[in-house]
Amino acid sequence: MRIGSGYDVHAFVSGRPLVLGGVQIPFDEGLAGHSDADVLTHALMDALLSAMRMGDIGALFPDTDPVYAGADSIALLEYVATVMADAGWRLVDADTILVLERPRIAPYREEMRERLAGALGVGVECVGVKATTTEGLGFAGREEGVAAHAVVLLDRAGTSGERVG
Ligand code: MG
Repeated sequence: MRIGSGYDVHAFVSGRPLVLGGVQIPFDEGLAGHSDADVLTHALMDALLSAMRMGDIGALFPDTDPVYAGADSIALLEYVATVMADAGWRLVDADTILVLERPRIAPYREEMRERLAGALGVGVECVGVKATTTEGLGFAGREEGVAAHAVVLLDRAGTSGERVG
């Protein structure tokens, strides 16, 4: 088995859609970034790549490459899932945390889990999403941006019986 952790931050900026966990959320600001700046999906991809000891998404999808301008991060996650399968790894479980003051995530949480699990080809019970505030402290507390943490557990495909999901 392998574990991986991922962390990402993007700054709020006006004039961009807010996409978190593959779900576009109505809000007065979005996140700055080369791709769609889906900070949650980025942290999850980094956790998966880290567990496979394959570096990070900056190496896999360079932000200097115009191909990834405005990229749909869920499509990038689907690609990471194929890399994972090709390398003989299987996702056992993933859990994530969004760190932000606003907007409220609860109404979108289940849709995020479904989007992420769908991209990874696992059951929705294998993907956790929750959100927390920082009580007004730090960049997230000042509503300057959003942070996301992710942890994953992988095992070798075919080594522990039936697929968990
Ligand atoms: Mg990012």
